[in-house]
Formats: sequence, structure tokens, C-alpha cells
Amino acid sequence: MAHTLVDALSTDPATVVSRLRSAFDTGRTKPLAWRLDRLGALRALLTEQADDLLAALHADLGKGPTEAYRTEIGFTLHELDHTVQHLEEWLRPKPAAVPQAFLPADARVVRDPLGVVLIIAPWNYPLQLALAPLVGALAAGNTAVVKPSELAPATSAALARLLPRYLGRDAVAVVEGAVAETTALLEQRFDHIFYTGNGTVGRIVMAAAAKHLTPVTLELGGKSPVVVEPGADLTATAQRIVRGKFQNAGQTCVAPDYILAIGDTAAELEAQLAVAVREAYGDDPAADPEYGRIVNERHFDRLTALLGAGRVVTGGDHDRASHYLSPTVLADVSPDAPVMQAEIFGPILPIITVPDLDDAIAFINNRDKPLALYAFTDSERTKQRLTEETSSGALVFGLSVSHLAVPDLPFGGVGESGMGRYHGEYSIDTFSHTKAVLDKPLN
Ligand code: NAD
Repeated sequence: MAHTLVDALSTDPATVVSRLRSAFDTGRTKPLAWRLDRLGALRALLTEQADDLLAALHADLGKGPTEAYRTEIGFTLHELDHTVQHLEEWLRPKPAAVPQAFLPADARVVRDPLGVVLIIAPWNYPLQLALAPLVGALAAGNTAVVKPSELAPATSAALARLLPRYLGRDAVAVVEGAVAETTALLEQRFDHIFYTGNGTVGRIVMAAAAKHLTPVTLELGGKSPVVVEPGADLTATAQRIVRGKFQNAGQTCVAPDYILAIGDTAAELEAQLAVAVREAYGDDPAADPEYGRIVNERHFDRLTALLGAGRVVTGGDHDRASHYLSPTVLADVSPDAPVMQAEIFGPILPIITVPDLDDAIAFINNRDKPLALYAFTDSERTKQRLTEETSSGALVFGLSVSHLAVPDLPFGGVGESGMGRYHGEYSIDTFSHTKAVLDKPLN
């Protein structure tokens, strides 16, 4: 008995995984009722502990309560409720047609849980990016180890305290820590690894997974371009770019990274972006409780070093002590500038002017495939060309960032922006084995 209690409280990776595997092997995670019950417990955690979670998100990233609720707690609840609403239908075996030669026979596709899955989360949406994958993992009938980011320590601690309390120790375990702890975790055999973060660590995760032939989902990042065409309503365009770009102080994987302004749109767009920033955050964004802060000094120093490019349209103010960097728009930026060499992941928005759509498409296709591509245009022909001639995790017209809140759309990257997808039914696919069943009567 004492031994069991010690095991239940241990964060030793081998002990944690073996505890979760024993729970999975009992078969108790498979019935729909268990899955719905665990999702209900997660719902209770998110609603009853919302104040504590908001305080943790504020401590980690200076997130204001409205934005933090919408993008972290509310987002996860929406994903959870959508899953609960459709789970029974998603899990129903799907009939498949049987070729004439085999008849009479039945064929169907069944989704089997995988077992014990590992979810490694980053710091920028430290709650959402740990718990939205967990919704899928539990809904698919798995047990899960969650490894929150050490760079969001208050949220990590809150998850470690609350998840076992609400969900029980044999459904979910939280292992906190940084590189050493994650490396030790990755030595264990998991049935799936779901990693969100940068591509360098994505490669480490994939190499570790290969030793056990464990499938991986890699939700990575990159530079997500915004194409703006002449003829687009530039007031609405600027407002919708600003809303997506400066949320969480630009620390969003699908944040618009840079603008490709076609033809003569740049001058008017610049002016409208400045207006839209003022409308969203006032004359002094530092005083707006909804405007976030840069996660740490390393990232603050990395970002301020990028400010030299082009001409400042708005912003450029910063304060190292408080990790504050104002919403910044840079015009006339050269493609060779440092700010154009890697994902910005902060509140700096460069504008590059290109002569026409052909150049914009060539610019995008000469670089890594982005996680998202945004375009503001009133031309159906342009939408069709971008759809057919570019490759990105997602393609969004007339909005930025919002596609990830549409649960029936798959969310994930391609090429350097990642592999695999989740949200809604796509999460069930990710965290299940899709099993073929063929059934022919003996006589
Ligand atoms: P991070 O530093 O928090 O790292 C992510 C996770 O990897 C953490 O849990 C961390 O502990 C772990 N980790 C770090 N070094 C490791 C190592 N050597 N071995 C094993 N594990 C290790 O977050 P980050 O990577 O800075 O996140 C930012 C990046 O993530 C950006 O590129 C962003 O675009 C991307 N991102 C993608 C998505 C998406 O859904 N596609 C969402 C958010 C962020």
C-alpha cells in the first residue's frame, strides 16, 4: 500500500509511465463514459480554478484577464465542449465498402486508443497548448503525461497542482522541468508524442521517438506572411492584422510575421496600421492592462536587436526591466534584414513592398512552408491562385490567427512548420490508431 502511494506521488519518468500504462492496460480508459467523465473533470478544473489560472498567466506573460480568458481558458473550454458534443458520433465505427469478390462481408474502420501519450507544451500559450491536446488524448481513450514549459513557471506549477487533483493520478501525470527532465522523459517508450515548440527541439523529440518507433506530432512555427493586395479595404485589413499580430505581444505561433504589400498599398496600409494600433491599445500601450509582456530577458534582447530594420511607422518603445516592447510596425524593410531571417515571435511587424502577386507568391515559395498564410484581397482569382500555388499549414483570407478557433478545421504545419494536425475530430485521429476490420461470415 505504502509502495503504491509512493509510486502515485513519484515524478520519476519510468515510474510515471509505468503507472499510466498499468491504468491503460486495465481497459478502464476505453469506454465512452470514462472519456466523458475525464473531460467533465477537466471542464470543472477550468471553470472552478479560472481565477488562479488567470493569475498564473499574468505572472508568466503579463497577460490581461480578457485576452487570457479568451485565448487560453475559453479557447480550451470551446474545444472541450465541441469534443464532448460530437465524441460519440466520432467514435462510431465507419462502414467501408467491400469489393464484390469478398461479398458477403462487412468492413468498418474503428478507432483504437494508443496507450500512454506524452504532451510537451511551450510557454507562449502555456495553458491552451498543454490542455487542448490533452482534450484530444483523453477523448481518444489514452492516458497522458503533460510536460509544461519551464519558461511559464506559474502556469506549469498550477497544472502540476490541479490536473492530478481533478483528473486523478492514473489518467494524467504532470512532469515539470526543463531540458534534463524532458530528456529523461523522452527516454521512455510512449505510444505517441505531441510536441509544440521550435523546430530545433522538434528534431530532438523526433530522434528520441524514433528509438521506440513512436509516432510524433510536431506543432512548430515559422514566418507566417500576410499578402495585401490593391483593392482590399485597408482599414479593415489593418484592424484584423493588428488584432492577430499583437495579441500576447506577438508571441503567437500563427501571428502574422511580415506583410507583403503589393503595388502601392504600403503607404496607405502603414497609416491604417498606426491607427489600428492606437485604437486597440491607446496612446500608451504600456498602460493598457490587456497588452502583454515579453516572456524573458533573452527574448527581449533578441527582439530589440531586430528593431534597426527599415523605418519605424509606429512603436519601437521598450523597457528591459518590465520586458515591455510596444506594438511596432517597420516599413521599407529589406528581405535581407535580420528581422526577415527567422520567426520574429514578438510585437514587430515589418512591411516589404513587392510589385505584384507573382512576386509575392515567389517570395513565399522561396522560403520554408509557413504555419499560416494570410491574404487580404477582394479578388477571387487571387484567392484561387494562392490556394493552388502556395503550401502552408493554413490559408486564411480576411482574418489573421482566427482559424485555430474553428474546431472542424485541422490545425498543424507542413514542412518546417511541422507535421500532423489536431483540434476537434482531427485530435481523435492523432491520438488513435485507425484500425481496419473486415468480417466475412464462415458460411
Ligand atoms: P519552449 O522553450 O517552452 O520549448 C517547448 C518545450 O520544449 C518546453 O516544454 C521545453 O521544456 C521543451 N524543451 C526545450 N529544450 C528541450 C530539449 N533540448 N530537449 C527536450 N525538450 C526541450 O518553447 P519554444 O520552443 O520557444 O516555443 C516557441 C516556438 O514554438 C515558436 O517557434 C512557435 O512558433 C512555436 N509554437 C508553435 C505552436 C503551434 O501550435 N504550431 C504553438 C506555439 C508555439
